[in-house]
Amino acid sequence: EEYYQRIDKVDKDIGAYAHLTRELAEEQAQAADARIARGEDAPLLGVPIAVKDLICVKDTRTTCSSRILDNFVAPYDATVVARLKDAGAVLIGKTNMDEFAMGSSNETAYHHVTRNPWDKTRVPGGSSGGSAAAVSANECVAALGSDTGGSIRQPASFCGITGLKPTYGRVSRFGLVAFASSFDQIGPMTKTVEDAATLLNVIGGHDAMDSTCANVERPDFTETLARDVKGLKVGVPQEYFSDGIDPQVQAAVEAGIRHLESLGMERVEVSLPHTQYAVAAYYILACAEASTNLSRYDGVKYGYRSENAENLLNMYTQTREEGFGEEVKRRILLGTFVLSSGYYDAYYLKGQKVRTLVKQDFDAALRKCDVLAAPVSPALPFKLGEKLDDPLQMYLSDLLTLSANLAGIPALSVPCGLSQEGLPIGLQLMGRHFDEALLLNVGHRFQ
Ligand code: GLN
Repeated sequence: EEYYQRIDKVDKDIGAYAHLTRELAEEQAQAADARIARGEDAPLLGVPIAVKDLICVKDTRTTCSSRILDNFVAPYDATVVARLKDAGAVLIGKTNMDEFAMGSSNETAYHHVTRNPWDKTRVPGGSSGGSAAAVSANECVAALGSDTGGSIRQPASFCGITGLKPTYGRVSRFGLVAFASSFDQIGPMTKTVEDAATLLNVIGGHDAMDSTCANVERPDFTETLARDVKGLKVGVPQEYFSDGIDPQVQAAVEAGIRHLESLGMERVEVSLPHTQYAVAAYYILACAEASTNLSRYDGVKYGYRSENAENLLNMYTQTREEGFGEEVKRRILLGTFVLSSGYYDAYYLKGQKVRTLVKQDFDAALRKCDVLAAPVSPALPFKLGEKLDDPLQMYLSDLLTLSANLAGIPALSVPCGLSQEGLPIGLQLMGRHFDEALLLNVGHRFQ
């Protein structure tokens, strides 16, 4: 009730939620009360949690902030949602996002934009901007987001919260609407690193319903948070501190690294030489995967169907013309182009090769250090509308986050300072595959 009152009060101006799930939440809250009365214990009993609107929650709309899924009601729970429910969570609403998670500002959402709670003339980041804003504005205790090229970490950084993109394969994608399946990962967006560890304990781990979900041990991530970091090596990748980085971001992250040094961590300079090709490789591969994943929205199986169609073919084309927004169409076209027979070798295949080189860069760097530290976003939260008409500018703002998705490694964003105008700045920690425990351990040193 308290959280719904808070939402009533502040969400008009922020727009963090796509829609609320009040009736189901009341049932879950009562169920949690009953479990408490029976003396049961569970990690999230009664904790109000928000879920990005591309993760299926049974019997609620899952719109991906797109017109084409506006009327879609999920017939089943995503694995992460089933696990949250088992853990006693109360799912209070679905958060707004860039349409199909394509974007970095939450401005491509079909229903409404989301504003940054720290400065409502600015974007909250994206594509999980609704989840970040909801946590930041106290409209939930914690939220789930998804990260394909930075969509958990960049909004977390812009809204002054913690966001973790787990290793590819750590968290089940069953019930997550696919954008780029070889990149997508669900992760926690929370106020603290400790909360992120608690949430990852609940949602992480093997799932037979997702063949890419790894069958590896899931440690208790809360147990190692307080471990001493003395003697660990923090790698500083020179390519992540180039001229294009806002000086205030650079200064805050440098101060963060000095803080780790003051705790006895050793700084080592490392290089990730293929970073300059990462944006191009990511946008080729992610668009290619998106173009095939989004072919299922044809007006037949589910979602929106055009009423203006005259025949079957025309029904497909009209439905997609009317149902998808501009950014989604741009990516479907780009993806179809790079996969077409005459261009496959020049773009898609080359993109895959660059992906391997980027991964090898990380493997080499992480042999010289235990964890990498870098900025999350090259810039401070920007003004609404500032980059909307310039897709290339928007794509370039993902420069520092998308390499972790190309390589499949875990990456954490933690708040490390404020700009002169009082805007939050995040520091990014990246680590070896399945070494989230170490990222959380080091990230906890900032709290
Ligand atoms: N901003 C990136 C994109 O538009 C990343 C999105 C994401 O991680 N879902 O593709």
